[in-house]
Amino acid sequence: MRPLDGHARLGAAARPVQYTLDLHLDPDADCLRGEARITVELAHPTPEVHLHGEGLRIHHALARLPGGRATELTANLGQNGALCLTAATPLPAGTVELEIHWRCPIGQVPEGLYAVRADDEGYLFTQFEPLGARRAFPCFDEPGFKAPFSVSVRAPRGCTVLANTAAVGRRADGEDLVWVFEETPPLPTYLVAFAVGPFDVVTADSDHSPVPLRVITTRGRARLARYALQVTPRLLKALEAWTGVPYPYGKLDLVGVPDFAAGAMENVGLITFRERLLLLDPERAPVHDRMWAEIVIAHELAHMWFGNLVTMAWWDELWLNEAFATHLETLAVQAVSPQFEVNLEAVRETDRVMGHDALAQARAIRQPIRDGGDVLNAFDAITYGKGAAVVQMLSAWLGEATFRAGVRRYLSRHAHGIARTEDLLAALEAEAGRPVEPVLRGFLDQPGVPRVSLAPVAGDRRRWRYAVTRHRPAGAADTSGRWVVPVTVRWVDDLGRAATQRVELDRPTGELRLPAPAAWMHPNDGERGYYRWHLPAAELTALARASATALSAAERVALPGHLWALLEAEQIDAAEWCTVAQALLGDPHRLVIEAVIEGLTQLTPAAPEGPVWSAWIASRLQPHADRLGRVPRVNEGANDRLARPTVLRALADLGADGATRAALADLGRQALLDFRRADPEVVALALPVAAWDGDRSVHDRLRAALEVAPTPAHRQAVITALGSARADDRIESGFEAFFWPTVRAQDLFALLRPAADHPSTRGRLARWLDRRYDAVVEKVGLETAAHLPRLWAKAADRAERDQVAALFESAQRRPPGGERILRQVLEGIDRNVRLTRWTRSSLARFLPDVDDLRRV
Ligand SMILES: [Zn+2]
Repeated sequence: MRPLDGHARLGAAARPVQYTLDLHLDPDADCLRGEARITVELAHPTPEVHLHGEGLRIHHALARLPGGRATELTANLGQNGALCLTAATPLPAGTVELEIHWRCPIGQVPEGLYAVRADDEGYLFTQFEPLGARRAFPCFDEPGFKAPFSVSVRAPRGCTVLANTAAVGRRADGEDLVWVFEETPPLPTYLVAFAVGPFDVVTADSDHSPVPLRVITTRGRARLARYALQVTPRLLKALEAWTGVPYPYGKLDLVGVPDFAAGAMENVGLITFRERLLLLDPERAPVHDRMWAEIVIAHELAHMWFGNLVTMAWWDELWLNEAFATHLETLAVQAVSPQFEVNLEAVRETDRVMGHDALAQARAIRQPIRDGGDVLNAFDAITYGKGAAVVQMLSAWLGEATFRAGVRRYLSRHAHGIARTEDLLAALEAEAGRPVEPVLRGFLDQPGVPRVSLAPVAGDRRRWRYAVTRHRPAGAADTSGRWVVPVTVRWVDDLGRAATQRVELDRPTGELRLPAPAAWMHPNDGERGYYRWHLPAAELTALARASATALSAAERVALPGHLWALLEAEQIDAAEWCTVAQALLGDPHRLVIEAVIEGLTQLTPAAPEGPVWSAWIASRLQPHADRLGRVPRVNEGANDRLARPTVLRALADLGADGATRAALADLGRQALLDFRRADPEVVALALPVAAWDGDRSVHDRLRAALEVAPTPAHRQAVITALGSARADDRIESGFEAFFWPTVRAQDLFALLRPAADHPSTRGRLARWLDRRYDAVVEKVGLETAAHLPRLWAKAADRAERDQVAALFESAQRRPPGGERILRQVLEGIDRNVRLTRWTRSSLARFLPDVDDLRRV
């Protein structure tokens, strides 16, 4: 007897072949009623069929056997969504049809099947990945079980019903309409979706889209659909061109959901989004929002091939979905909108994920899945960010054409089926004609960032020969790991001639031989390899000096982070880091500036008391601020538009620049006077600053602004501003805004993040959350609550660490997945504490005195 635990694998005893679901969905009802007929294939005679159904009230179940005989089944629900159907006598091997009648509650938090109200009308949405489908209908809720779905939905007249495929018929049934949908291709349960409500539906011009495409909004928001309708066909064509496979499904609906826990979800043919990532004012949307909408749309579209057409066999292979969707999102947006330079955003993301991957508590990309918490944990920066970096490394190492041919072979071989990493490897190796597995395995199955150092071979005074050494990954507890690291070094000789050399490090040390001495060298050409690197002091100085003129944008964007890793490893000190940072701050690229500012923010707790540190930062940022001005300019490039908020906010905050602070606060207050007409880009920049020192009247105006926000971008700025108050008597009323009816579950992190990021308000946030924890969880649900410890990722002193540990000490405050997240956050705080302690003295040494600064 095995215990009834929905987290245990179902095994091969029963396999679904086809589902027919008849659902009764009403946004104003509190439960769903349904009838399912699931054709299953039984491997051997058995009295029991195990599947999933969480919180379902099953009032009738039976099995229809070949020949038409039916037998009653008893339904038992176990823990974690286990469902066992038992017959009095064994069911025969072969095909059996299960018929199940059930009801289940409709949730009020954005998980599973849930209700949302918008402008006083009711809507229903679903979010089934990873384990939510079992809460809505009885099913074999594992990604490896793909089967076609025939769905019909009975819903009130006046509602539109959306599903994975097109509606093929509607018929009246009393007060309701019954919508009948085309049968789907084989789908795993987590990709099934429905939506019901009085939607606005905007259809794309069929001349422009390769598929029937619609953007769907809650009533009254159709005017915000145009941007997505313009950009989606272009992204689809880019993805079709890269994969060589036409869009695999019959239609595509993109739905803006008013309350959505994740960013978006790639349900087959019915992608759901947070409104702000889909519904943009076509004239005025901030460039930042345009870029991120395009990235997220591209990501979800890429899943139609990676995850939907070819589905991972089990959750430990989630990287086959997410790493590829993340890599492809970059390729597609780069092809369609090169002005955003999202390839460099990917470099920044790799840098961030390397910081995470250097924790001893980091996961490997492919981690055994033992329970539901492990499934939820798999959706982290390692699977997405590190996964995408590894895919990109693989592509660079094999050559893009070979890599793409391998991926195309994989897609066509497993279309509408499932796949494992071994299947991808077989396809890549067939194209490459050489083993790929030894390289890939190290990065997939082991946590940690390999570290590679170059040093002149002993006795080689001309510096032509370098030992290339692979070190134990930072943080990794296991030192026995097997790694093959493809290293590509780019170097330039004294005459300015550039060349690259590759070393495949399959042992701890290799050798690099240069034909002539190098003027400078970069140990990771184009930043396409997933490793940290270190150079001897002379080479590092030469590289830093060459950075402005000789390094590619990707290399410049990554440079502050590599040096930061050396700082954390205590191989350089804060004075050395700041010296290079000072030079890099002359770089006009937004992502270089952003990377340096991130380091400066992290060093701030170690800075000496007094104005010297902030004055030094202000002196470095001021030239950028002068160049950019305070408001967007006509015909301004994307780089400057995206740089402005980063520079100005850092100048006002880290740089403590009173003039900038006052000017932004003033812009913010002005925007509140006529909020509907305010420029959303200015609002996003200035509103939070207006809230820093804002009094009660600012708080009240923000509340009123939320009610009239004309676009999701306006709304987002208000949420951020509400959480940004720093005046003692206003901080908590900002947090309490979370319980306003106009603030949604999805807004929790945007609201609390500003306080979490600022040392002066973080303690207050912890005390508030301690008091309000249960009420917060009731509104957001357990899946979101598991991520709460992340708010303290920037904490940098012991007392704060103790506060966080105490806040989440009770087991009830560690929902599935939360345990690991808390451990990672606490380890990260320990790292910050160590760094602050050891950088303090060198930082003091670096800073010139204030008199010198005035002359800068
Ligand atoms: Zn994804």
